[in-house]
Amino acid sequence: MAVCARLCGVGPSRGCRRRQQRRGPAETAAADSEPDTDPEEERIEAGAAALAGAGGGRGAGPSPPPRCSLLELPPELLVEIFASLPGTDLPSLAQVCTKFRRILHTDTIWRRRCREVLHRYRHILGLWQPDIGPYGGLLNVVVDGLFIIGWMYLPPHDPHVDDPMRFKPLFRVHLMERKSATVECMYGHRGPHNGHIQIVKKDEFSTKCNQTDHHRMSGGRQEEFRTWLREEWGRTLEDIFHEHMQELILMKFIYTSQYDNCLTYRRIYLPPSHPDDLIRPGLFKGTYGSHGLEIVMLSFHGKRARGTKITGDPNIPAGQQTVEIDLMHRIQLPDVESLRSFNELSRIVLEVREQVRQEQQQQEDGAEDGEGRAPQSPREPQRGPAQPSVELPAEKGGGPADGEAAAAAAPAPEQPAQSGQGQPFVLPVGVSSRNEDYPRTCRMCFYGTGLIAGHGFTSPERTPGVFILFDEDRFGFIWLELKSFSLYSRVRATFRNAEAPSPQAFEEMLKNIQSLTS
Ligand SMILES: [Zn+2]
Repeated sequence: MAVCARLCGVGPSRGCRRRQQRRGPAETAAADSEPDTDPEEERIEAGAAALAGAGGGRGAGPSPPPRCSLLELPPELLVEIFASLPGTDLPSLAQVCTKFRRILHTDTIWRRRCREVLHRYRHILGLWQPDIGPYGGLLNVVVDGLFIIGWMYLPPHDPHVDDPMRFKPLFRVHLMERKSATVECMYGHRGPHNGHIQIVKKDEFSTKCNQTDHHRMSGGRQEEFRTWLREEWGRTLEDIFHEHMQELILMKFIYTSQYDNCLTYRRIYLPPSHPDDLIRPGLFKGTYGSHGLEIVMLSFHGKRARGTKITGDPNIPAGQQTVEIDLMHRIQLPDVESLRSFNELSRIVLEVREQVRQEQQQQEDGAEDGEGRAPQSPREPQRGPAQPSVELPAEKGGGPADGEAAAAAAPAPEQPAQSGQGQPFVLPVGVSSRNEDYPRTCRMCFYGTGLIAGHGFTSPERTPGVFILFDEDRFGFIWLELKSFSLYSRVRATFRNAEAPSPQAFEEMLKNIQSLTS
């Protein structure tokens, strides 16, 4: 308020004091005995004095202006002055008089303030993955009104992959501040409190909470766990104590809550898209059995598509490639009746796997001979997955001994790949799915591999599977060895500042997040 009073003309500016000295020492003494002053105020006073003198004041001649009240100044100059004040003083300044209030209500001051703070924090806008053991995560940092807010995106509750993403704020930065932007931790249920952000380098920053007691609940750990369980999983303690996933859930709570919102984030980009891509690349929510729903990034790399985990679990951590799709090897599903037989599907897939192996062997031999059977580099844009370079395994019909397999070969010619029409789909008997509500028609299928590992990412192994494209926004994967099915549904949220500066930068980013958990 001291600053406001002076600017208002209630207290004299420095220029005024000089003139006052000529009038009488008593007044001067009073003015000088004021508890003085922080450097910011000094600067403001000096600025105001200079402005007041601009019309012919100090040093400009013998006739000083009759008054030095800031009220006399044109609004443009007042905007200049007010814009240089600490943001926290502006609300009190607005209470001084209607003229000041009017000026402070002009957008200019706030917009400039936003630009200045934004400039410092511009590097934290966009998408980030926290370094939080195997679990990962998706943080979206955006400008929202007078704040920069870090939103943690969470998948919907298991197994509802088609539901929208959920999000909660983890921190915010005030754009009202100029000298030192106020950072608040938003973690917990007791409102914003003191936090800190450290921008380590362009693609990395850390958050810190300075008041972690704000994260604690009156009911202790028990209440914190119940609340977390309800929010994160949509479950109650009673629910999960009937399931074997209780251990996994408890472990995640204990592991993640110990961080207390002190996290390091690394930048992630959305995958670049190409007109020839099978579908638009992007983020998907997928079912991962007892681990619940996880976020996977689908990207295209020439003849392959990859699903990279943005969130992870103790088996396959975030950053790893959960599925890889071989776009050069279509799989022609048999008719629905035959598809119900797991053995039949397994036979088809393993046949393709053998074919892939042979081709790889030939390529390697060719490379040794200097011939190179496949001249195009794997980085070359794909030529369109609808035209596979190899024969469809179902059409080969390698002398099936049983009737089911014979039936499998029969319908293939009636299902032209380019028709764009769906073909019936059903999960083979014995393949488990979190979600019975999966699509019953699909566009096309490809051979792929899925990464499985023991707890703690021990003995990771790529195992054969089937990638099923249902439509533009949904796909599935049958894990042959696990006899289980994952359903993926597109994350429809739009993200700004998440584009990779180049395809190389995107590849680099994938490599980096993978190496962190390998
Ligand atoms: Zn906090």
